[in-house]
Formats: sequence, structure tokens, C-alpha cells
Amino acid sequence: MKGYMHSITIEDDLCKGCTHCVRNCPTEAIRVVDGKARILPIRCIDCGECIRVCPYKARGVIFDHISSIPERDNVVVLIPPVFYLHFDTPPAFATVNKFIKSLGFKAAYDMSLIFESYPKLLHLHMDKAGKKKGFIPPVCPSVLRLLTVSFPNLLSNVAMFDSPWEISAGLFKKKDNKIKVALLTTCPAQITSIKFPLGIDSSRLDYAIPMNHFYHLARRYFEKTPSGDLSEGIIACCGEWFSEAIPEKDILSLCSINRIKDALHEEEIKHNLSPDIIELWACDYGCAGGILNALSPVVLMQYFRRARKSPKTLVSDERREELINDFNIGLFDLKKQITERPVLKLDEEMEVSLRKFEQLEHILDTLPGIDCGACGAPTCRAFAEDVVLGWSYITDCIFVLKDKLKKLAEEVADLSRLGPSPQRFK
Ligand code: SF4
Ligand code: SF4
Repeated sequence: MKGYMHSITIEDDLCKGCTHCVRNCPTEAIRVVDGKARILPIRCIDCGECIRVCPYKARGVIFDHISSIPERDNVVVLIPPVFYLHFDTPPAFATVNKFIKSLGFKAAYDMSLIFESYPKLLHLHMDKAGKKKGFIPPVCPSVLRLLTVSFPNLLSNVAMFDSPWEISAGLFKKKDNKIKVALLTTCPAQITSIKFPLGIDSSRLDYAIPMNHFYHLARRYFEKTPSGDLSEGIIACCGEWFSEAIPEKDILSLCSINRIKDALHEEEIKHNLSPDIIELWACDYGCAGGILNALSPVVLMQYFRRARKSPKTLVSDERREELINDFNIGLFDLKKQITERPVLKLDEEMEVSLRKFEQLEHILDTLPGIDCGACGAPTCRAFAEDVVLGWSYITDCIFVLKDKLKKLAEEVADLSRLGPSPQRFK
């Protein structure tokens, strides 16, 4: 997993240039050029919507294959709660641990422990920061990236607090910084965050293993090894996690990246709603909707509802005290503010930029304004921007091309009507 900026990939051979991904990308990061989809890296937020909607499975993700992870006996694997939701009868943690060891890893770590404490720790963090309204928990890496690209004014609302997976990895590295940590993940943005984290200089995670690859191995193992029932219970980040965990707060919960994008533009939400916490998940049902899960969110949520009927407390008093101590010494604080991403500017120089903007508006006036996508851009405005930036020809718009061809045909017809040269010098 070296040398990339995003974990999303495109298989050119499979891409048919159908523009499904172009029309569903929340940040207008995709264009179809010469019949193949291309990503503008500066705009991509690794949300995985393009993978979800591609009918030809031309999209994939860069990840760590288990067999390619070196010295696995020194690697701890973080097991997020959503893993247990993949089983009608969730396996006991001891069996999961045995399975992880059978793959050559050092041990498994059940992240439910952190997930149980996380909302309460965040509550403490809110009190410490003295912020009363509009707090955004930094739990969904795609959402954070969306804010950096499309809503930079909301970045100051993001809690300066680590994600549950960074906290979990940090707890291991605090004890022994030679230990490596792998995350079992449901999400391309988490994979990208290992290389390009937000709010910290470098991630404490070393590897990312996708849930869907891991699940099939686990399923086979559990079929052969009687697992016993999950003894500890499940705390999952399924959409309304904070609303349920801290009901005393007024919480706005939103799932699905395009819904979030629309909602954050809504005047009533921007100016009047003022919730204490804004809980945002890029996928439907939170991590249960992650693109790298092996089962659909409908199935996972049903298993979740069944498993949750008998919730159990996971964190011992001793463990809770240890977490509070780590919290008090600032171990979970983000070290730097998450900043705006400089998405496409028309030009570095203000004067040129203004000129290009006028050009853009002029081009836009000549386009039909129906956002058909036939040019390979998601909207007519995005296409006009591409033309100004020199990425597309105006004739890539079929309406402009048709117009030009019509005029050309008329001119040719006029010319043909002229007949032979007039005999002016007879
Ligand atoms: S959805 Fe995007 S990647 Fe998939 S075939 Fe269509 S254009 Fe290509
Ligand atoms: S991952 Fe999301 S932001 Fe990136 S290209 Fe795909 S749909 Fe667009």
C-alpha cells in the first residue's frame, strides 16, 4: 500500500464510461474522458459511492492482503463491532482471537470496549472544550474529508478528538511502540487515512484489511470450530450511535454522503436548528453500510437488532479509569486543526482567476443547462470549468457540437449553391 493518495481504483478494461459514478460522486471528482472514468485526486474524499453504483464492478480499493503483511506475529488486529454483525449468532471474542492467531497474527483486540466508552469520552471532551453547539464527532473519515472539500466553514465544529480506531491503536503503541496494528475495515476512507490522516501527523495504524476478504476466511473457520456465544455484547456505530448513547444531548443524526451534502446546505439546518451534536455518517446505517462489508446493511442491521436485545456492559471499572486517565493527559486529543483542501482554483493569480471566471460564465450561457452528463462531467457548470481549465474541448458537449455541425452544414450548402465562378471578365 505505498505511494497513493486515494485508495479508490478504476479498472480501465471494465469501465464502460457509463457515467453512473460521475453523477453520484458527492464532490464532482469524476470525469469520463475518452470513454473511461478518471478521478480528480484533489476532489476525491474516498467515500466509495462510485464503487457502490458502478454496474460493471470497474471500481476497487487498494488494501493490504493478509499474506503480504510481514511479521504478523507482531501485529494486533482491531476488530470493530460491525464484524460481529456478520453472524446470526455472533462468535465469542475468544474464538475470534483464536482465529486471528491461526492466521499468524499476535492477537485480536475487541474495539467494542472503546466504542462503549467513546460517546462518554466525547461528552467530557465537549465540556473541556467549552463548546456547546454544533459539535461534530470525528468518527467518519469520509465525512471529515467532505468538510475539507465542500464545507470548510464547519471544520471548526469538528471535535479535536481521535477516532475510535486511532484511540485503540494508540493504546497498544503507548505500551509498546514496536507493535504493529492492523484495522479490519469497512471503508476506503479509513484505508486512505492510514496514509493521509487528518488532525494528526501520522496514523498509529499500520495496515488495513477489508472486512469482506476477512469475513470469508472467518466464516470457514467458525464453521469448523464451535465458537460459543458472544459473551461481551455488541456496541455498534450504526447510524444513531451518539443519539442513543447520550440521550441528554440534542443530536442531529444524518447518514448517507449525498443526503448530508444536501442537508448541510439547507437554510433551516444552517441557521436555526443548532443541535448540540451533529452526528454524520457517509454510509446509510453508519459503518453497517460500509462498502467493504461482506453482507448488505439490511442483513447487518437485522442481526444488530437481534444481538442488541441483551446488551451487556463491556468496560470494567478499572479499564474505564485507565481510559479517563489517558483522556485527562490529552492522549486522545487531535494535535492540529483539520484544514480546508484547496480544491480546484481557476488560477493562482487573482486577476487571471477573475478573467477565467467570466469566461466560465460565458461558456455556461452557451450550454443547454440540462446536466445530461454526455460530456463526461457531472454538470454543465463542471464542464464549463473543465473547458476553462483546458481539460475539455467545448465540442465535447454534444449540443454545442450539433450546433456547430448544423452551422457548418448550412455554410457548405450555401457554398454549393454558388455554382461555378461568375464569368466576370467575359
Ligand atoms: S460507473 Fe464509472 S467506473 Fe463504472 S463503468 Fe460507469 S463510468 Fe466506468
Ligand atoms: S470515492 Fe467518493 S469522492 Fe472519490 S471519486 Fe468515488 S464517489 Fe467521488
